[in-house]
Amino acid sequence: MHPMQRESPYPMVAIEQARQIIQQHTPSPAAEEVAALAADGRILAEDVVAAAPVPDMPKSAVDGYALRAADGLAPRRVLAEITAGGTQGASIGPGEAARIMTGAPLPAGADAVVMVEQTSEEGGVVSIQHAPQPGQSVHPVGQDIAQAALVLPRGAAIGPAEVGLLATLGRTRVLAYRRPRVAVLATGDEVYEPDTAPPPGGIRDSNRYTLMAAVRAAGAEPISLGIARDDRATQRAAILAGLAQADVLLTSGGVSMGTHDLIKPLLAELGTVHFGRVAFKPGKPTMFATVGGQPVFGLPGYPVSSLVSFEVFVRPMLRRMQGDPVPGRPHVSVLLAEHIQASPDRPEYQRAVVSFEQGRLVARSTGGQGSSRLLSMRGANALLVVPPRDGGYAPGQQLLALLTGPLA
Ligand code: AMP
Ligand code: MG
Repeated sequence: MHPMQRESPYPMVAIEQARQIIQQHTPSPAAEEVAALAADGRILAEDVVAAAPVPDMPKSAVDGYALRAADGLAPRRVLAEITAGGTQGASIGPGEAARIMTGAPLPAGADAVVMVEQTSEEGGVVSIQHAPQPGQSVHPVGQDIAQAALVLPRGAAIGPAEVGLLATLGRTRVLAYRRPRVAVLATGDEVYEPDTAPPPGGIRDSNRYTLMAAVRAAGAEPISLGIARDDRATQRAAILAGLAQADVLLTSGGVSMGTHDLIKPLLAELGTVHFGRVAFKPGKPTMFATVGGQPVFGLPGYPVSSLVSFEVFVRPMLRRMQGDPVPGRPHVSVLLAEHIQASPDRPEYQRAVVSFEQGRLVARSTGGQGSSRLLSMRGANALLVVPPRDGGYAPGQQLLALLTGPLA
C-alpha cells in the first residue's frame, strides 16, 4: 500500500485556465448524414439552401373569390371553383371571378382575393362589399421562402421549426454533427449498483447514473462502464475499455488524496494529465487528461462535486464537439434574495433557484451546499458564481449565475 500523501503533486489551476486547457484538447466536431426529420437536438453541419421558392406559385391566403382588383366594386360572374391541391383552372377576365379555397393556386388573370365573409353570391354572380387592392389576400411566389435563400446556416440548432423547414424543402437527409460517445466509469470499493442492498457502510452508485443522464441532456451518448473496484489493474482495464468504445471518458471518484485514489497516477501513466486540481468549489480534485488525444475527465466522488464539475468543464466540451457555436450556458446577472455564504479562498458554484420577479432575476439558495448533498442540485436551475470572500454576500447584492435550466 502507498503511504498517505500530504500534498497533491498537481498544481492548482484557475477555472479559466482549466477551461482553456480543455478547449485546446477538444476534438473537432465530426459531421455525418442523418435522417433530417428526426434530427432535432443536433446541430446542422451544412448550409441548407432553398432549391425552389415557397410558395412556388401565387396562392390564395383565404377562402373567397379570386378576381381582378381593377374591376372595383362591380359584381363578377363566377366561372369556376379552385381548391387547394387543384389546378389553376380557367383564366379570369374583366368582370369575372372564381371561387377559391385557402392554399389554392391563384388563376391566371386574377390579382386579388376577397374573403368569403365580405361577399354574397347569387345566380352565379358574386357581389363584394369593399373594392379590393391588387395583391390582397394573395401569397406571392417566394413570400415564405425566397428561391436560393439560405434557410438554415451551418451551426443552427435543429428544433421543431428547423425540422419543419427541412420537411418543407424536401430535405429528408442532412449533414449534422455526430453525438459524441461518452463512457462513464464509477470507482470505489464502497460503491454498489442501485438495485442491490449494499452491505453496512456501502452506498449506491448515483454518480454514474447522474452523469449518464447529464451526458444525454448535453446531446451526447452515454456508455456505462459499470463500477470498478479500487484496484489498479481493474481500473486500468476499465479505462482502456472505455477509451476503445467512446470518444470521451468520465470517471467518478478515486481522484482525492486517499491511498486508494488511483485514477490520477493511472492516467499519468497511460497519457498526459493536463491538470490535476482546480481552484474551485465544489470539485477541487477534478482532473483532465488525454490518452492518445482522447479526453478523460476524472471527476470527484462526491455527488455534487461530480455533477457541478460536469456542468462547468465537461458539458461545454460535449457541446463544442457537437458543433454548437454557443457551447456554454448563459451567464446572467442576478440579485441575491438572501445572504449567501462564500468560501474564503475559492470561487464557488452554489446551487440556486433563479426566478423572474418584478422585472428582475432573483436568486435563492437551494439550502445546505455540502458536496455529498445531491438534494442541493434538485430543483436548481442555476449555479450561482460566488467569488471568494470573508463573510459572504448580503441580500440585494448582484452576482453572476450560470443558468442550467428554465427560469423558476
Ligand atoms: P472519492 O473521490 O473516491 O474519495 O469519493 C468521495 C466521496 O464520494 C466518498 O464519500 C464516496 O463514497 C462518494 N462516492 C464515490 N463514488 C460515488 C458514486 N458513484 N456515487 C455516489 N457517491 C460516490
Ligand atoms: Mg473512492
